[in-house]
Amino acid sequence: MSTDTPAHSPIHVIDLIRKKRDGLVLNEREIAFLVAGAASGSIPLEQLSAWLMAAWLRGLSVDEARSLMLAMRDSGEKFDPSRLGKTAVDKHSTGGVGDKTSFLVAPLAAACGVVVPMISGRALGHTGGTLDKLESIPGYRTALTLSEFETVLAYCGASIISQTPAIVPADRVLYALRDRTGTVESPGLICASILSKKLAAGLDALVLDVKTGSGAFLQKREDAEYLAALMVATAEAAGTRTVALLTDMSQPLGRTAGNFIELVESASLLRNQRPPASEDLRELSLILAGWMIHVGGAAPSPEIGRKFAEAALEDGSAMAVFFKMIEAQGGDTSIFNDPAAFHSPGATQALNAWEDGYIADMDTTAIGWAVQRLGAGREQAGEPVDPHAGIEFRARRGARVHQGQPIAKLHATTQAMLHEPMELLRQAITISSTPPEPVAMVGSIFTRENAEAYLRDAVR
Ligand code: URA
Repeated sequence: MSTDTPAHSPIHVIDLIRKKRDGLVLNEREIAFLVAGAASGSIPLEQLSAWLMAAWLRGLSVDEARSLMLAMRDSGEKFDPSRLGKTAVDKHSTGGVGDKTSFLVAPLAAACGVVVPMISGRALGHTGGTLDKLESIPGYRTALTLSEFETVLAYCGASIISQTPAIVPADRVLYALRDRTGTVESPGLICASILSKKLAAGLDALVLDVKTGSGAFLQKREDAEYLAALMVATAEAAGTRTVALLTDMSQPLGRTAGNFIELVESASLLRNQRPPASEDLRELSLILAGWMIHVGGAAPSPEIGRKFAEAALEDGSAMAVFFKMIEAQGGDTSIFNDPAAFHSPGATQALNAWEDGYIADMDTTAIGWAVQRLGAGREQAGEPVDPHAGIEFRARRGARVHQGQPIAKLHATTQAMLHEPMELLRQAITISSTPPEPVAMVGSIFTRENAEAYLRDAVR
């Protein structure tokens, strides 16, 4: 006997909760009913919470994840980039520490002929938020209307804004509930949440940077691979050309983690400077931008896309897009003329190596919490963040260090806020007598060619 609600019969939420609880699969109509009820407020939060927990415990099938994503995407207002006359491409990262690639890839890809309508998020848990970092620039407005968004995109090819209240209202309700009910870490729910927002921006193509390693939300490689394949297959089925790269987050990316200091590091790379501790950030940004340019149809391969991106870095055209975007959104670019004069943390302290050896391991999640507790992130939604807080790393994984040598510099809002993060950072770093095995920057890559096959073979 089929357990589907017959096509014209009324749907009852309790039946959908029991069905998921018992490990059965909901059909498209049933999922659409849940999403509409979440967006309109007609389904009580306790019933939505129960369904989310059942979905977290039982998992969602590939078809359920697809139906959920589509219903969420269509639950509110959408952006239409077609009037811009160029392919619309974005990059999304699943969250990391010191991950500032958005500030590089958006102008790099835009300088190479695609448009980048980037709707970004705030700091979440131990990971930093693109919007919080950008708002450290005096005057920068992240809350643009969709018509202002279109104007900035037409002017310079890239714009980074916050989600408007009307885009994917179902995710606002469901994400806030997941955050409070321990149901965030579910591949199906993550896939639907991220892609519904990205695809509501009308993207033609999308590059996903799925983090693995000690600083990632999904630290196990097989979990990250499943999520990557699921997101590629789901977005492709919805008509968006998509690729996912698994990338290393076993240490913070680049030499800074915080707010303004991350922008300064990004601006120095866009100015084609080559600080040694920023090489991994430069490399990953060029790889991701190369894929964006390729999937956006402006390069025949990701390798050639990367070459185009490198040329845009070296000739200053990407830097010009970056500064035009900041100015178009009201930001004061003069602070980048003398960043040290603008950077004014309440208190600063160095962490020195406590013995001779190699930096062998970094617990990057713990480092992310240290950054947050310096004042760069928030404890409660809605709290302000300190633009000047964060950590500058002087030694990276594999570096040879000597006792007493500064390995990091911590910037906090107040002297009292230095103590706990200093201890967290000290505990997060392992110094050993032997160097660690190097970790590849990019692991598996999923495209429409291999994602469906991976999902068919995956045992979940
Ligand atoms: N970011 C999102 O937007 N949604 C998730 O579910 C996880 C990370």
